[in-house]
Amino acid sequence: MTDTLRTLIFENASCRAQMIHLDNAWQNIASHNHHPTPVMTVLGELVAASAMLSASLKFEGSLILQIQGDGPIRLLVAECNSRLGLRATVKLREGAHIPDDASFMDLVNAQGKGLCAIILDPRNRMPGQSPYQGIVPLTGQSVASSLEAYMHSSEQLETKLVLNANARLAAGLMLQQMPLDGGKGAGPNHDPDGWSRLCALAQTLQTDEHLNTDTFELAKRLFWEEAPGVLAERKAHFECTCSREKVGAMLITLGQDELNDALSENPVVEVQCDFCNANYQFTAEDCKTLFEGGEPPASNTLH
Ligand SMILES: [Zn+2]
Repeated sequence: MTDTLRTLIFENASCRAQMIHLDNAWQNIASHNHHPTPVMTVLGELVAASAMLSASLKFEGSLILQIQGDGPIRLLVAECNSRLGLRATVKLREGAHIPDDASFMDLVNAQGKGLCAIILDPRNRMPGQSPYQGIVPLTGQSVASSLEAYMHSSEQLETKLVLNANARLAAGLMLQQMPLDGGKGAGPNHDPDGWSRLCALAQTLQTDEHLNTDTFELAKRLFWEEAPGVLAERKAHFECTCSREKVGAMLITLGQDELNDALSENPVVEVQCDFCNANYQFTAEDCKTLFEGGEPPASNTLH
């Protein structure tokens, strides 16, 4: 089974698990991002995390995970929408040198100035309404531990994450503690050791096993003694939400003068999508139409 996200519930432990295993979807994303292995590993882990966090929220719109790095990686972005459509991109610093054994810290937190942000962009955002954004300093030694720290400080949710990725596969397991009995306190069946037992099981997961086992099989192997309930099984896919209309709307925000300057040097204004490399070209005639309101902006942001 490919590109599957599985949601499990451990009632007595008041814990929910998300498991994701990506192959085609990740390979599709990776085909638009040609970077050294350590960069792709971090990106794959971030993509897996974005899907699990998105699935854990009841939210119509896109969840965007951003790491602003102070090392060779300037920016990592992984985005997941409510349909489990995934896309991601990386921006390296000019002239960045990346050794094969570069660690997460080397890549994004070389001087301790890296930042981690989670952005929630509602599907039907009103004009002028800004998306919700939480941002914290990067504290972890890995994508997983940085996001755990984020969830702990911003959402006050105990979260355990295991993330792994290589050039072809990306996988994640996320455990989240839920409020006891919907916030009413511990019920008669409450299992006070459940959370630490589940975390210990997650800890046993090795990279190879994690990457090479689908979520159905892995859930069975890891949790057979815990007898979790299955809440959902969904498919993830690569999806870029860029469009000519959105690029046009972004060009309008640049202003006519700036576009005229660009057109005085080139016959067309070219914009390439960071996520899927789609190329959008606007001639002088197209730009004129834009400002005459021929193509009304659908949104004022490019994503
Ligand atoms: Zn695109």
